[in-house]
Amino acid sequence: MSERFHRIPTPGLCRDCRQPWKYAIDPFRIAPHVWCVGSNVDVGMFLLDTGDGLALIDTGMAEFFYLLVDGIWRAGFDPRNVKNILLSHMHGDHVNGARYLQEMSGAKIWISSEDDAFRRRAKLHFGMEIPFEADAWYDDAVPLALGRFSVRTRLTPGHTPGTTSFFFEDRDDDTGKTWLVGMHGGAGTDLMRPDVLASEDLPQTLAHRFVRDCAALSSIPVDICLPSHLNQINLVANIPADRRDYTPYIDRTVWPDFLAERAAAVRAFYPETYGTAAAGR
Ligand SMILES: [Zn+2]
Repeated sequence: MSERFHRIPTPGLCRDCRQPWKYAIDPFRIAPHVWCVGSNVDVGMFLLDTGDGLALIDTGMAEFFYLLVDGIWRAGFDPRNVKNILLSHMHGDHVNGARYLQEMSGAKIWISSEDDAFRRRAKLHFGMEIPFEADAWYDDAVPLALGRFSVRTRLTPGHTPGTTSFFFEDRDDDTGKTWLVGMHGGAGTDLMRPDVLASEDLPQTLAHRFVRDCAALSSIPVDICLPSHLNQINLVANIPADRRDYTPYIDRTVWPDFLAERAAAVRAFYPETYGTAAAGR
C-alpha cells in the first residue's frame, strides 16, 4: 500500500451535514485540467475544464452546495458554464446538488440506466432529497466527447446496482505529458455486507461482481486516482502548499492498492466464498 495515500477514517461530514462549514477546504487542482471543487474534506467533486465548457463529476449534498459553487469560482471558473454533470451513483451525498446546479447552469445530467432505475425505488435512507430527472444514460461502448476529454465510462456495480467509474486522459499543455485519470464511482464497502444487501432486497451477486471488477480494473495504468470520498486515499493530508500543483498525485501505485484494499474488505464479508483469510489476501 502506498505510504502516503492510504485509507483513513471518514471525516464525518455525511453524518454532520448541518454544519458543512466545519469541513470546508479550498479547491485544489488534481490533474492538468481537473480541479477538486467540492471544497469539503469528505465527498469528492471533480471539475473538468474541457475547453468547451465545464463538466462536473458528482455534486454533493444539498447542505454543502454553496461550498461547491464557491469552490468552482475559487478554482477560476464560472459555475454557470457547467454543461454536463456526470453522476457516479444514486446516493444523496453525490447527487443532491444536481438539480440545483442544473437550475443554475442548464447542464445535462448523466447517470447509468441501472441507477436511474434504482433511484425510482430508492428509499429515503439513501439520502435522496432533491429530485431530478436524468437527461441521458451512459453507454460504456461510446465515450463521452467533452471538449479536450474523451471520458470512458464503465459500469462497476456493488455500492449501488449502477455505480459507474470514469477514465480519461489529460494532457499537460506546459510539459506535453499526458496522464491517465481514473475514478471508481463507488467504493464504500459496508453496503455490500450480506445483511445490508438483504435489507435492501439486493442480490449478493453485486458484492461478488465488485470484487471481480476491482481485480479487472487494477490492470488499468491509472496515473492519477480520483477518490469518490477523499479519505479513501488520505487526499487532504497530501494537498501541497501550491494548490495548483497536481504533480504530487501522480502515482501509479495508488489505484491498484486502493482497489485491492476495497476488494479485500468485501471478501471479508463472505468467508464462505473467499475463505477466512480473505481480508489478508
Ligand atoms: Zn454512496
